[in-house]
Amino acid sequence: MASVEKVIYISGAGRCGSTLLERILHSAENVTSVGELHCLWRLPAEAITCSCGNAFVADAHWRAILSAAGFDAATLAELRQLEDSVCHSGFIARHRFSIDSLRDDPRVQQFLELQFRLFDAIAEVDGSTVVVDSSKAGPRAWLMACDPRVKVLHLHRDPADVIVSWRSVKFDPGLGTAMKRMPIRGAALDWWKVDRLAALLARVHPVIRVDYRELCASPQTVVANVLAAMEIALAPGPQWTAPDAVQPGPDYHSLNGNPDRFDKGTLRIALREADWSRIARAERPLIRLTAGALRLLSPAGHKMARWS
Ligand SMILES: [Zn+2]
Repeated sequence: MASVEKVIYISGAGRCGSTLLERILHSAENVTSVGELHCLWRLPAEAITCSCGNAFVADAHWRAILSAAGFDAATLAELRQLEDSVCHSGFIARHRFSIDSLRDDPRVQQFLELQFRLFDAIAEVDGSTVVVDSSKAGPRAWLMACDPRVKVLHLHRDPADVIVSWRSVKFDPGLGTAMKRMPIRGAALDWWKVDRLAALLARVHPVIRVDYRELCASPQTVVANVLAAMEIALAPGPQWTAPDAVQPGPDYHSLNGNPDRFDKGTLRIALREADWSRIARAERPLIRLTAGALRLLSPAGHKMARWS
């Protein structure tokens, strides 16, 4: 069976732009982006949507991967159980935010071993060497960082942009309904938790910090820097057709995440400004205030940039 060489784990708040980044990376020949992989064991099969448009339960591509990994319902249930036991902030804190301590925990070892069976199967079915997991969850970044094959990337987006995005109505063709609108407090907490966990991780482990605005302003440079920092050499690399456009890669089967992943055709990279016009007037000051507080709480984030 083929083995995966590197896994890129994208950490970040919901709506941070991870779908954009994973689609750029997926255009490179040896890279497979799988979206929010942890949905596989966190959600019932009927709640999982794939970017190819097929119902997940009837998706031949994912069936092939699960079969190559030797996964069945019992394996997924085991992962779910392990997830509940190890993948939360309290567990990371009980290990005193130490990668060595986490790495020594047999439950973490089993959690990672099962997932690497899956990563290897993805690499085998897709003929790729690099897998991109955009699950984004903060505690998961810590667990993934325990394996030397994993490179952690934190995608930072300004909290005001993130909250405005959560408060705007957006249609999800995968679910056939409008995406969930998270309350301001929930969106703020989600942003803060993942930002905090990534900043703490960066103290003890390399974390590549990518700013959403910088990524949109000069995508080619940022992606090249990120890959170089992760010591990932891709030949050929992402399929740029213009400084701000990419020809998407084939066999894109990305789970859950942003509805943009259903788009076909050339991927154009453009900054999406927060659309304040879709936010109730009465809500705007509270969002500005909350975002301002979050920026103050996150000065450590700026020390995270490690390009080497
Ligand atoms: Zn699919």
